[in-house]
Amino acid sequence: DQYLDRIHEFGHLNAFTEVYAEEARQRADALDRKAAAGEPTGKLFGMVIGLKDVLCYQDHAVRAGSAILDGFTAQFTGTAVQRLLAEDVIVIGRQNCDEFAMGSSNESSAFGPVRNAADPERVPGGSSGGSAVAVQAGLCLASIGSDTGGSVRQPAAFCGVVGLKPTYGRISRWGLIAYASSFDCIGPIANTPHDAALLLEVMAGADAYDSTVSAKPVSAYASATLPDRPLRIAYLKDGVDSEGVDESIRKATRQKLDALRAAGHIVEPVELKNLPHLLPTYYILTTAEASSNLSRFDGVRYGHRAQGVTDLIALYKQSRTEGFGAEVRRRILLGTFALSASYYDAYYTKAQQVRRLIREETEELFTKYDFLVSPTTPSPAFRLGEKTADPLQMYLADIFTVQANVVGYPAIAVPNGTDEAGLPIGIQVLGAPFEEGKLVAFAKELT
Ligand code: GLN
Repeated sequence: DQYLDRIHEFGHLNAFTEVYAEEARQRADALDRKAAAGEPTGKLFGMVIGLKDVLCYQDHAVRAGSAILDGFTAQFTGTAVQRLLAEDVIVIGRQNCDEFAMGSSNESSAFGPVRNAADPERVPGGSSGGSAVAVQAGLCLASIGSDTGGSVRQPAAFCGVVGLKPTYGRISRWGLIAYASSFDCIGPIANTPHDAALLLEVMAGADAYDSTVSAKPVSAYASATLPDRPLRIAYLKDGVDSEGVDESIRKATRQKLDALRAAGHIVEPVELKNLPHLLPTYYILTTAEASSNLSRFDGVRYGHRAQGVTDLIALYKQSRTEGFGAEVRRRILLGTFALSASYYDAYYTKAQQVRRLIREETEELFTKYDFLVSPTTPSPAFRLGEKTADPLQMYLADIFTVQANVVGYPAIAVPNGTDEAGLPIGIQVLGAPFEEGKLVAFAKELT
């Protein structure tokens, strides 16, 4: 009831696109009865969570922030959500996000923008903006988002909460509406690294419905500890030096690094040779994958269908033109171009090659270091409308977050104070693949 009251009170933030008020109350009552009857209770008993509008939950609408899925209802519950329900969570509603998780400001949603609770004139970040604001404003205890290039971590940073992107393949993508399948990860947004780790423990692990998911055993991430030795911490030199990063963020990052040094850790600057190639590689490959993934939304099988057209091609064209917003259309066009016969080698193949070089550079770095630290974002939350006219400016908001997805490594964003105006600042840590426990333990030390 407390969360439902707050969702109502903070309705102007537009964090939820649907609230399951009655259903959540009934579930809470059922859980109470179960406990009263002395039945065993789940690991997440009574935890109230929200789901980003890209996660399928049987018999509930799912829209991916888009008009093209008008009228669509999920026919099954995705693996991650099934596992959370099996541990007794209460799902309180569906959370607003950028259309098909494409965006860094939550302004591309067909359901209108989400507002940052720290300053409602500013964006919450994206694409899991509603999910981050819901935790920031206390509208639920935690949220489940998705992260293809930073969509859990960047909004977490803008909202002063914790966002965890696991290793690629750690959590099954079954039931997650695809954006770019070789990058997409489900990830929790929470108040603390501990809460995020508990959610990860429950969602992670092998699944027959997703062949890319790892069969490696899932350990107790929430109670993992750090090795008993000074940690070898690399930090991105550009993150604390570059003019492109806000002074407030550079300062906060430097202070945190000094504190780590003072605590006896080895803290060294590194430069990523491939830093200038991260965003181009990410945007070529993700738009290519998106153009393929989104071809299934054709006005015939799902959701919105254009009226008054008389032939099949016109039906496809008209339904897709009406159903998709401008950013999604831009990306489908870009991706289709990158995959077209005469440009495939120049763009797609080349980007795949560069992806491999970035991976090798990152692997080499992790032979010398335990973690790579950087700011989560180059600036705090910007104003609504500030970057909508210039997509390239918008893409720059992801400069520090995309590496983790390009190489498939886990990364966590934790709060690192505020700027003078009181806007949250985040710090990000990249860890070695499948070492989420160590990453979470280090994140606890950072907060
Ligand atoms: N902002 C990035 C993009 O627009 C990342 C989105 C995401 O992680 N889903 O692609």
